[in-house]
Amino acid sequence: MTAPRVRKHWGWGFEDEELPRAEIEQAAAGFSAHIGFGTSEIEDPKPLDEIELRAPRVNAPAELAHLADSSTHARVFHSHGAAYRDVVRAFRGEITNPTDVVLRPQTEADIAAIFKWCSAEGVAAIPFGGGTSVVGGVEPSVGSQFAGVATLDLSAFNRLEQVDEISGAARIGGGATGPQLEQALSAHGLTLRCYPQSFQFSTLGGWVVTRAGGHFATAETHIDDLLESARAVTPVGVWGSRRLPGSGAGPSPDRMLLGSEGTLGVVTSAWVRVRPKPGSRAQTSVQFSSFRIAAEAVREIVQARLRPANLRLLDPSEAALTGAGDGQSAVLVVGFEAESRDVSGELDQALAICSVHGGKWERVSSGGREGASGAWREAFLRAPYLRDTFVRMGVLSETFETAVTWDKFPDLLDSVTDAVESALKDVCGGGRVSCRFTHVYPDGPAPYFTVLAPADRGSEVAQWDAIKRAAGDALIAAGGTITHHHAVGRDHRPWYDQQRPEVFARAFSAAKAAVDPAGILNPGVLIGP
Ligand SMILES: Cc1cc2nc3c(=O)[nH]c(=O)nc-3n(C[C@H](O)[C@H](O)[C@H](O)COP(=O)(O)OP(=O)(O)OC[C@H]3O[C@@H](n4cnc5c(N)ncnc54)[C@H](O)[C@@H]3O)c2cc1C
Repeated sequence: MTAPRVRKHWGWGFEDEELPRAEIEQAAAGFSAHIGFGTSEIEDPKPLDEIELRAPRVNAPAELAHLADSSTHARVFHSHGAAYRDVVRAFRGEITNPTDVVLRPQTEADIAAIFKWCSAEGVAAIPFGGGTSVVGGVEPSVGSQFAGVATLDLSAFNRLEQVDEISGAARIGGGATGPQLEQALSAHGLTLRCYPQSFQFSTLGGWVVTRAGGHFATAETHIDDLLESARAVTPVGVWGSRRLPGSGAGPSPDRMLLGSEGTLGVVTSAWVRVRPKPGSRAQTSVQFSSFRIAAEAVREIVQARLRPANLRLLDPSEAALTGAGDGQSAVLVVGFEAESRDVSGELDQALAICSVHGGKWERVSSGGREGASGAWREAFLRAPYLRDTFVRMGVLSETFETAVTWDKFPDLLDSVTDAVESALKDVCGGGRVSCRFTHVYPDGPAPYFTVLAPADRGSEVAQWDAIKRAAGDALIAAGGTITHHHAVGRDHRPWYDQQRPEVFARAFSAAKAAVDPAGILNPGVLIGP
């Protein structure tokens, strides 16, 4: 039997994927020439065996000892997510709030036993799926009122448990990663087709509780749309809903778990809507003279009730960065797909709208992804790895995202870009911010911003926090949401607390108290502690 691959303790990917130093230096030199800052003098991560962790404040009791892992790798890896600020701190070995113990439950009864211990001893319990949170969702920073922190690694809940081919649904373990669940479904000729950029490591349970968005731009792309019923273990019992294609019977138990970010219970499995793999595709990329003009075309496409699988609009800077454009034009990657229906007519309708707005395209592809759309897809898949190189070469690199109604979009774009450019100037002496649309709705887009800047080594977290403050304040002031699909976690609390109704916060707190009377489940995320 081959040993399981070990995730890197600080960045994206597995330990065995680390490139030789010379190759990283070469890549760093290339990037720095391309973006105009950063250096090929790369830094090395602090080796795992040199990281000093606070001694565990609690140990698992004897009856849970067989599930416990207090190794340095387990504690370091489970003490951070995958935001830029997480990667930088883990790279430097700065794990100031390490989890005390990692527990790997194998059954729902194990989870119940862990909750019993945590509730009795005042130990915070943090569910951990793939650890790809970019908002401090898995960070054991819970305050001194807790005796310690136990992180629940859910990787054992990774199986395809049942397939209902008649209804087109499957029950899958909450700890299954994207590749694990797609591989299992493909044996049945089925697919979930939910592809967040973190697909490689994020899990079904993580998607449900963070309301993840897949990479399709319109239609059924959120896990919300794909969830038929969910099952979660809470400290007071199991929260399991009936499988139904739709129901008007009161508030939906599933909708309450969606977005609950580990504060109500651990999602151990979910029934999700699956489908045969698509057999028909048509796509191309369209160049526009400006992002704003292209945005008008995008609005008309979705308001004409067309539902392209891909409708990624990149501003000129973002297009150049990903190799999809020349830096002069905005690029719209547009594609339709279906199981068997010919979708070329739908692409023709979308292109007719683009044409009215001066859009130009060269050729339509009905098979593999070529040209700008292929370049964009490659860049999309490479991005998480690239960020590790940016950290090593002294480049600050992070993203933030929102959604806003069309009427407010132009002003939001201006005010957010201005606020971030001004913060970049103050904090980093310069840098660049670019924008693309990840998702588009008839009533508004989800703009996604990428920030690149020269980092001051050792001060990156403070630099990013200042830029993020400017971005978050500008987003809320312009009528956007603090997050469209990255979730709230601990990092978005200052803005989430302004955005959500106060009465709702009180209702949610009361619901949490009913299922988690000791308040041990992921304190500080969404509400409290
Ligand atoms: C490079 C990169 C790209 C990304 N791209 C996308 C994207 O395209 N779309 C998108 O939506 N998000 C994206 N994200 C954010 C992140 O991947 C999602 O929030 C994802 O859903 C988290 O899943 P996870 O299994 O890694 O959860 P974790 O990071 O382990 O946990 C996230 C939160 O969920 C809780 N949790 C996890 N599993 C469970 C469970 N089974 N039951 C209860 N609570 C649980 C945790 O306590 C935590 O609060 C990206 C992140 C990175 C680093």
